[in-house]
Amino acid sequence: MDKKLIWRQVDSLSEELIAISDWMYHNPELGHQEHQAAEKLVNLLQFNGFKVEKPYAGMATAFRAEYSNGIEGPNIAIFAEYDALPGIGHGCGHNLIGTSAVGAAIAIKKAVPSFPGKIIVFGSPAEEGVVDNAGGKVLIADAGGMKDIDAAMMVHPSNVNRLGSSSNARYAMELTFTGQTAHAAGAPQDGINALDAAIQTFNGFNALRQHVTPDVRIHGIIAEGGVAPNIVPDRAVIRMYVRSADSEYLNEVVEKVKNCARGAALATGAQVKFRKTANTYKNMINNQVLNEIFKNNVESLGKVIEPAGKRGAGSTDMANISHEVPSIHPYLSLSDTKVIGHSTDMADATITDKGHHCLVLAAKAMAGTAYDLLTDKALLEQAKQEFNSGS
Ligand SMILES: [Zn+2]
Repeated sequence: MDKKLIWRQVDSLSEELIAISDWMYHNPELGHQEHQAAEKLVNLLQFNGFKVEKPYAGMATAFRAEYSNGIEGPNIAIFAEYDALPGIGHGCGHNLIGTSAVGAAIAIKKAVPSFPGKIIVFGSPAEEGVVDNAGGKVLIADAGGMKDIDAAMMVHPSNVNRLGSSSNARYAMELTFTGQTAHAAGAPQDGINALDAAIQTFNGFNALRQHVTPDVRIHGIIAEGGVAPNIVPDRAVIRMYVRSADSEYLNEVVEKVKNCARGAALATGAQVKFRKTANTYKNMINNQVLNEIFKNNVESLGKVIEPAGKRGAGSTDMANISHEVPSIHPYLSLSDTKVIGHSTDMADATITDKGHHCLVLAAKAMAGTAYDLLTDKALLEQAKQEFNSGS
């Protein structure tokens, strides 16, 4: 079959997809609150004959939408995201991710009337680790969502067209120190300074950095550090992430990080409590066979895509999917000039012509990749072999 038929379907859907993406730009919703965005995507899928399960995996704004012709074949998943960042809206371009995923799936259904297997769109909330219980894909994977899936993909907007490389595993936590208020000048000897405990904790992190592997990232903020200069702070709160290329080593580093806080609490007389604030993201494994298929599709569309770069230091919950089934997380460019990720510039770029082209290209490249996997058993087998060999 000529893939141009699938791509033509993406073109005819593009106006509707762009309208939803632009609407999301103007109406950003934070993780687990993306009720309207999820509803718009689900409505479009249902209108086009997809069977939808929502809520899904215990999340009100998650969904699983699938379409099949009842012909035996593989189950290929495309992941949608639609959560925004506080203050800067869609500064990570998840409006393009959600709409391109839905567009790719519908285009296949419309263009290929008798494709074998199933095409599944997972609506995955709260990718950004800024809300409690973040990491919709972790919850989907943990709920067994990947059990009947053969391969999974998504595309993330970026500055360049580039295949995905590995990413860091990530642990997110909040550290709360409690002490005793006192007059900061009149009777400081009666006080226990929770802010000092937080500062000592950061000094501990800085000493720790020399003694962890270079892939490790330890970073955070002091979210609360007292209320007035003349009151000894009795409460201080650190919000932070620890990241590492290796999920097991990550746990070791998290323990060392906690010890920095325990030591600081002992030194200052404060108490410390730890709270895990997001689901833990694993390290991303991009399947090289799938990467090659995606690259071929991008090239068939007349575009160039760079090979995977060196390891990314950031993290994504797609990583947890990539430990379950062969997966990819490539990048496509949404701007001709450099935009910084997690900025209002990036959000603004999503509603430009180039941003809209990124959406359409992502939908076409994923539709082509999914079509290849649905119809070419040998390709899917190669991807699975690579996955099973753990390379
Ligand atoms: Zn993102």
